Amino acid sequence: MAQRVALAEGGNKKTSRVRVAVRLRPCVGNSHEKDEGPCVRGLDSQNLEIVNWRNATETVKYQFDVFHAEQTTQQEVFRSSVKPILQHVLNGQNASVFAYGPTGAGKTHTMLGSQEQPGVIPRAVREVFNLVKAKEEEGGWDYSIGMSYLEIYNEKVLDLLSPGSQDLPIREDKDKNILIPGLTLTTISSFADFDKHFIPASLNRTTASTKLNQRSSRSHAVLLLKVVRTQRDLPHRQQTGKLYLVDLAGSEDNRRTGNQGIRLKESGAINLSLFTLSKVVDSLNSGTAVRVPYRDSKLTRLLQDSLGGSAHSVMITNISPEYEYYFDTFNALNFAAKSKLIVNKPFTRETVAAPVLSVKRTREDHGVRGSVTE
Ligand code: ADP
Ligand code: MG
Repeated sequence: MAQRVALAEGGNKKTSRVRVAVRLRPCVGNSHEKDEGPCVRGLDSQNLEIVNWRNATETVKYQFDVFHAEQTTQQEVFRSSVKPILQHVLNGQNASVFAYGPTGAGKTHTMLGSQEQPGVIPRAVREVFNLVKAKEEEGGWDYSIGMSYLEIYNEKVLDLLSPGSQDLPIREDKDKNILIPGLTLTTISSFADFDKHFIPASLNRTTASTKLNQRSSRSHAVLLLKVVRTQRDLPHRQQTGKLYLVDLAGSEDNRRTGNQGIRLKESGAINLSLFTLSKVVDSLNSGTAVRVPYRDSKLTRLLQDSLGGSAHSVMITNISPEYEYYFDTFNALNFAAKSKLIVNKPFTRETVAAPVLSVKRTREDHGVRGSVTE
């Protein structure tokens, strides 16, 4: 994979890689889960290891662009994975940040956070306002910031700033910019202004409970900040930069959640978008693909001008430490990994030595899960 990445960077048709960060959340389960200990742990700022379910005397070691261990703060995640790309949006370039991972692994915590621990979205919005202020003081350009907020639910594009709106079409203009005619774009002039529109809109998100998690989100929530700058002097050139901040639907295998009927249909659609996203990221990062399959799902079609090409993108893959998430974690890591290696060394339990075979039992329950790497 490392070789393929080098090719991507040195190739003729230059398209940017998607930077991949992995964030491991702390144990938040009950004491029983804590007794069992974690099934995954960090090694350094790029590597982690996970128990190998095939062979308890081995671990699987993965490498990423960045690994954020469980004690990493919201500020550190923002500073290392998101802040560096924001400046480009003021120069008319596009950027995207998305949180990937199973339900319960910390996507919403990472993107939205809480009042006490604000996540990527509030921090990025504040930073964009700060950057704009500094740039305006430098002179030369006037800036205006607009926001849109939508969700992709069941392969439908719904405007969260205009509740009750119908599925919106995604189009491409002659300059290959992706746009959604009819999508609300609200001009905002301060962070308070942003919050005023964003908070009620967040409540419009379609969420339905599943067996796995009451608050499981079945949709992709997409926040767009559009920064337009206009030259003060003639010829009044204008440039637009877009920043997409995306809280993806859960990547878990839906066979486990007992989804049926309408839920199952949703799952299929979610899997289509996530499956296509994985193909897109893979082909961008390998640099060998003739065709990047953006058009195969709504999510990737929407992100087409902001993922790959000249855009700056980062995917924060969220994972959980507990054994109950083992196969979802394994699948998420295989999606995100730059490289992986089987290491012939047992995973040392830091707490009580519970039988490693509990992992195997889980696998049998779920049939072919974990097959991504096979
Ligand atoms: P997701 O959106 O992926 O389903 P959440 O963000 O809702 O997951 O996280 C699940 C639970 O774990 C929440 O209660 C959240 O507050 C908590 N959590 C997630 N990540 C962290 C973290 N890094 N530190 C502390 N708590 C976290
Ligand atoms: Mg969530």
